[in-house]
Amino acid sequence: MQLWASQPPALDVTHIISGLNDAQRQAVTAPLGNALVVAGAGSGKTRVLVHRIAWLIEAEGVSPYGVLAVTFTNKAAAEMRQRIEALLSVPVTALWVGTFHGIAHRLLRQHWQEAGLPQNFQILDADDQLRLVKRVMRALDMDDKRWPPRQAVWFINGHKDEGRRVRDLADDDDLFQQTHKRIYASYETLCNEGGLVDFAELLLRCLECLRGDEGLLAHYRRRFGQILVDEFQDTNRIQYEWLKLLAGDIGKIMAVGDDDQSIYGWRGARIENTQAFLKEFDGAVVIPLEQNYRSTANILDAANALIARNGMRLPKTLWTEGGPGVPIKVYSAYNDQDEARFATEQIKDLIDNGGAANGIAVLYRSNAQSRVLEEALLRADIPFRIYGGFRFFERAEIKDALAYMRLVQNRHADIAFERAVNTPSRGIGEKTLETLRALARAGALSLWQAGKKAVHEGTLKGRAAAAVAEFLKLIDEIAAGVAELPLHELAAAVIEASGLIAHHGREPGERGLARKENLEELISAARQFSGELVFPLQDAEQPAVSELEEFLDQVALDAGERESKTGPAVQLMTLHSAKGLEFPTVFMTGMEEGLFPHRQSSEKPEGLEEERRLCYVGITRAMRRLYLTHAEVRRLHGADNYNRRSRFIEELPPHLISEVRLHGEVERPLAALRSRSSGLFESSPACPLNIGQRVAHGTFGEGVVLQSEGNGERTRVQVHFAAVGEKWLMLSAAKLEALD
Ligand code: ATP
Ligand code: MG
Repeated sequence: MQLWASQPPALDVTHIISGLNDAQRQAVTAPLGNALVVAGAGSGKTRVLVHRIAWLIEAEGVSPYGVLAVTFTNKAAAEMRQRIEALLSVPVTALWVGTFHGIAHRLLRQHWQEAGLPQNFQILDADDQLRLVKRVMRALDMDDKRWPPRQAVWFINGHKDEGRRVRDLADDDDLFQQTHKRIYASYETLCNEGGLVDFAELLLRCLECLRGDEGLLAHYRRRFGQILVDEFQDTNRIQYEWLKLLAGDIGKIMAVGDDDQSIYGWRGARIENTQAFLKEFDGAVVIPLEQNYRSTANILDAANALIARNGMRLPKTLWTEGGPGVPIKVYSAYNDQDEARFATEQIKDLIDNGGAANGIAVLYRSNAQSRVLEEALLRADIPFRIYGGFRFFERAEIKDALAYMRLVQNRHADIAFERAVNTPSRGIGEKTLETLRALARAGALSLWQAGKKAVHEGTLKGRAAAAVAEFLKLIDEIAAGVAELPLHELAAAVIEASGLIAHHGREPGERGLARKENLEELISAARQFSGELVFPLQDAEQPAVSELEEFLDQVALDAGERESKTGPAVQLMTLHSAKGLEFPTVFMTGMEEGLFPHRQSSEKPEGLEEERRLCYVGITRAMRRLYLTHAEVRRLHGADNYNRRSRFIEELPPHLISEVRLHGEVERPLAALRSRSSGLFESSPACPLNIGQRVAHGTFGEGVVLQSEGNGERTRVQVHFAAVGEKWLMLSAAKLEALD
């Protein structure tokens, strides 16, 4: 019961509700109860959540301790906390703001006993999980050619995301099902024995724990009087169930989302949750928002036109008061290098003209695309930062160092043992390790215990025995030496004593140097961590977990969102990780069939629609300037790919677009370029081929030259090939043969 249920609040809350439009204000000040805000990109959904939390605390008198806010990424969570604090002008440490995984983890750390976990349970990141599955498959003597381990991981996570344990899977004659069920079963046993918890397990375990413990559930239902969820369209089944369970039958959830931005269907997200919410959450009111505050009209019109092609969607209007802005620019590069060079040149121009590097994002469909972009930016001396992708904490040298730290904290962490024992090389080979694994299996021991036993009882002999004994001693000595040190000094000491620095120092050239730098970066990450614990420890329920353990958990949960360099920088990330963010300038690169829409997804209509939503997400990140680039030839995974321009470019209204060429912009919009007639073109003095000339190409077959640009080495021609349509080609590289 609120004290002022019948009276208006006496406090001044104008700062919370000014700067909102009517619909937003209605959402922010809605009576306590269930509410769903469904609205298009940039309409202020996240803003509404932030203001709602401030409203709850200041106007409704809800205790910060009773508010739970869930967002999709750690970055978004940190931003949300900052924005709430700015609105409230008091620190709100008691507030729980986090990702589903982060919050589930926190609950499990506090209630490990109720959850049936050992107190020092360890989080498996994606890479650890894959290794463990491989180990399981080796033990089961399964052929990893026939049964790819990644597929097995997919199988396991898919079932966990739907809340299914091995025991819930039906017996099946199907060999695929049977095989994967066996892997899942062994994997589950291994995890349970070792106290290992993968990402999907965090959520499932947390759900089961709350379900199975009435007292605990009642406690948290009482405690969290208000729950707020951002990016609701991307919740999976478990997350939905979890929200339902915590809510109980009291209306207290405000969820915001946009079905047009549901992009994690491939990972179990269910658009249906939005419909289900309305049915299953009592008295849920729907509040639409329609005004977009982020993008120019050109960008918004393009996004609206694109998404209108999708079949299944909730009807929505999205408009802006802003002007049209500049056209969307399309650049056809001849290869990925050229694409990167183009983006880099534009970025340099923008920065030279006073644009902030932070306000520029370069987006791509797949992480493999980033390397070429990184190199071009490096050459141009433009600072940049990469999110996700090859994550800092997933780099081999970092994982090695973390394995040592983990062993110092818990000798029985087998995964860490496997990793550290022969890195750097100590002459402990696969055969020795296999002996230890067998001993461990037979005696239900950790590898550490097995190592001791093997040395002690002489199972291992000679050099192998000495090497293992030496390793065990090393870890014990390191542990004794660092027991009293603060976290970052501990990290430094462990890394030094592990021999990793010396090991990488011997590596020739840039690579070794980069690794050493990364290890130093890990030490500053530890220092930074001590300064700003994500979940402060003053929470009374927080058990005394050592800082080291907390750091290692955080690292595993961090999912690559760490920013390794500070200062203004161009932001590189996948389209998926750009969700919820906004930038004045956005480059969407690799707009090619097969890459985007991705080959695997575009075969099925649902897959194609999800790719189109991803494209909608990308376009709507842009506030003022949007560039779409594609390459005629792209080297990916060691092979040359010749792909047509993405259908998503063709799906945009031509009048919103202008083509960019090496020598400035072409005034004619795309549509004119598409309808060609060879008579229209004149010959160009720089190009030895005449416009209208018939040519043959080794891969594309016969075609007609449409136009040319550039000169010398850089001359490029556009050819219409009968078989594959239009291509831009480098004359010096393409080996075109002139036909009569
Ligand atoms: P997405 O769907 O991409 O997550 P969103 O709906 O969450 O977008 P926000 O990020 O909350 O949108 O808002 C988009 C931008 O518009 C932000 O810069 C926000 O500050 C601004 N904005 C939202 N509402 C208003 C308003 N009433 N007045 C001024 N600016 C606003
Ligand atoms: Mg948002």
